[in-house]
Amino acid sequence: MIAQVLVELSNKNIDKTFDYIVPANLILKMKIGIRVTVPFAHQILEGFVLGLHDFQDTDYELKEIIDIVDTDIILNSELLELGKYISDTTLSTLISSYQAMLPKALKARNGVVVPKKMESYLVIKKVGINSLNLKQTEIIKAIEKNGKLLKKEANLISTSSVKTLLKKGILEECYEEVYRLNHLSEIKNKYPLTSLQQQVVDTVLAKKNTDTVFLIHGVTGSGKTEIYMEIIEKLLEDGKESIVLVPEISLTEQIVARFQNRFADNIAILHSRLSDGEKYDEYRKIARGEVKIVIGARSAIFAPLKNIGVIIIDEEHTDSYKQDSCNPKYHALDIAKWRSRYHQCPVVLGSATPTLESYARAAKDVYQLIELKERVHHQQLPSIEIVDMNQEMKRKRGNFSLSLIQSMQDAFSKNEQVILLLNRRGYSSFVCCKNCGYTEKCPNCDISLTYHKSSNTLRCHYCGYGTTLSKICSQCGEEAISTLGVGTEKIEEELNQLFPDKKVVRMDFDTTSTKGSHERIIRSFSEGKYDILLGTQMVAKGLDFPNVTLVGVIQADTSLNIPDFRSSEITFQLLCQVAGRSGRGEKKGRVVIQTFNPDHYAIRYAKNHDYSGFFTEEMSIRRKLGYPPYYYLTVIRMLSSSYEEARDASNKVAEYLKKNLSSSTIMLGPSIASVFRIKNIYRFQIVLKYKREDNLYPTLKNLLEHYKSNSKLKIDIDFNPIHI
Ligand code: ADP
Ligand code: ZN
Repeated sequence: MIAQVLVELSNKNIDKTFDYIVPANLILKMKIGIRVTVPFAHQILEGFVLGLHDFQDTDYELKEIIDIVDTDIILNSELLELGKYISDTTLSTLISSYQAMLPKALKARNGVVVPKKMESYLVIKKVGINSLNLKQTEIIKAIEKNGKLLKKEANLISTSSVKTLLKKGILEECYEEVYRLNHLSEIKNKYPLTSLQQQVVDTVLAKKNTDTVFLIHGVTGSGKTEIYMEIIEKLLEDGKESIVLVPEISLTEQIVARFQNRFADNIAILHSRLSDGEKYDEYRKIARGEVKIVIGARSAIFAPLKNIGVIIIDEEHTDSYKQDSCNPKYHALDIAKWRSRYHQCPVVLGSATPTLESYARAAKDVYQLIELKERVHHQQLPSIEIVDMNQEMKRKRGNFSLSLIQSMQDAFSKNEQVILLLNRRGYSSFVCCKNCGYTEKCPNCDISLTYHKSSNTLRCHYCGYGTTLSKICSQCGEEAISTLGVGTEKIEEELNQLFPDKKVVRMDFDTTSTKGSHERIIRSFSEGKYDILLGTQMVAKGLDFPNVTLVGVIQADTSLNIPDFRSSEITFQLLCQVAGRSGRGEKKGRVVIQTFNPDHYAIRYAKNHDYSGFFTEEMSIRRKLGYPPYYYLTVIRMLSSSYEEARDASNKVAEYLKKNLSSSTIMLGPSIASVFRIKNIYRFQIVLKYKREDNLYPTLKNLLEHYKSNSKLKIDIDFNPIHI
């Protein structure tokens, strides 16, 4: 028997299987989709078996497979096909596509060993023994109840009795695997759905055996989560499984808690903050068919469920659903659609602020649109006030307008809580010399350093470089370094001066680096231990605190100023999302948005909760400028540690593309990327815009092939990029 094995050959772009002989002792265990170890050029590598044949069709002398890594099938037939789709559509290697679908412990990669967690149990070996003392009898009884007992628990009764019983051979110790996470929780009563919610559930279920994509455009608090849970419950009755994607699960602990209340331990959770061991366990629960519901961040879309009834993508506009930091650069929505065709099940997208692409598809009936214009019990959406910071600056006020301060005082006087958003972490946005104007930049990246006061360091938010702040300018030698711009750290300091008797908790990248820190912050804020939750965009998503009646946005301009065609859309989404955190309970909510661009349309439409107004205006701009959803985009980046190499290659690539693509395709660049240098790598880019380009894939494939063995230059391709 011959096996075709796919191995990872990093740094080489070899993407094909190699044939190996299956030794006689492994023939019975050999299956497509399992992991094996094979000899490869003086090394031993792990790989996936992608095919099996009875006879060798070459005259080479083949080597033998060394061993099987695990007997379980890691890549079932669906995942095998899906990997090919990903590889074809993103032009990434097949092996990288398979690796992206799997938790670390199951990737074919040497040296990754994640052990199963074993626990010691006690079982009865000899029965019918008399002459036991009280404690010993108690232990025996406890074991008899379930046939076994955790040794830990028996030890709680009496450690010495356990020892004696083991020594006498009455008990025996055995080891069994236990899962690291347990989601048991009692099932609570659910709300009866409103008739509107029920209608939505019925609409979706009417097409439960089709690959329809639904877009639920529902204002914040319109009861979407309840709708998802009802759909899932109905499908459970048919024996069907569900995937629920949420933006970043550590921020949506509350959603998980609601699912646990409804479905107890019938769920597995997958997200980046779990340990490798926890991910491994959760993944195997799914693969073994022990749970029917998977909740998770982007990569949960690959959950190896076998009978999917619905795929739900909550907050579908979230940019983290696109993997864009490494290959394959896939979007979870594309994977969801592929799997929905495979399983013939619907996809349900939900958002208060859908992406322009999704809403445009719904407008063209590619997706089935469902609108929910009101909150569950017709609570009003919060009223939004826009404060012009140009005027405030003239009055020499700091980062807090009079209106925001008064609104905060008002909320505190009623014992209500406040959420403040500033989408920039650190103390200041940059440091600069007042004498010569020099700004401190990262030595590895083309980016200003951010001052972090708590550690008195200047840090690069791209590569992590850090250095202590010196008061003396490295250029002119004057003691004139000062900090400019504002980050969350500085706002926290100002809050402590403005409201000395109020308690502030800050939630940003810096305060949430340890495991469980998000959860702790959210829990203690929801228990009322703090008056103010201050943070970056992390505070905008998914949170539900009934006692929050005021949301303040310190500077709405941070996202408006990023050089990206989506900056208005991102700003509009962020403002609507964060505004949706206010007034979710009985009390009416307020929002104060501070901005230097009070007349910007993204801000004006957010003020009126006017999604369709924003959609219409933004669409007309996209049409004029030729951006999505009117045109497709592809970004090609030329990366090199040598400036000349990157520049010359980008010119050559541009010429090649011009020659091979149709004349209707628009080419922007080559130009330098928005951050020109990251971690000492120079970045040039070409942006392609097209409505239809039949030569795109073959041309880009040839391009990759051409540069494959060039060690100085890397070509990076991102189809439908989120950021350019
Ligand atoms: P969304 O996901 O659209 O933001 P949620 O599902 O979180 O909305 O609902 C908003 C709030 O209303 C939540 O606190 C939820 O528990 C409550 N809620 C939703 N549906 C109902 C219902 N049918 N009856 C009572 N309360 C509900
Ligand atoms: Zn850097």
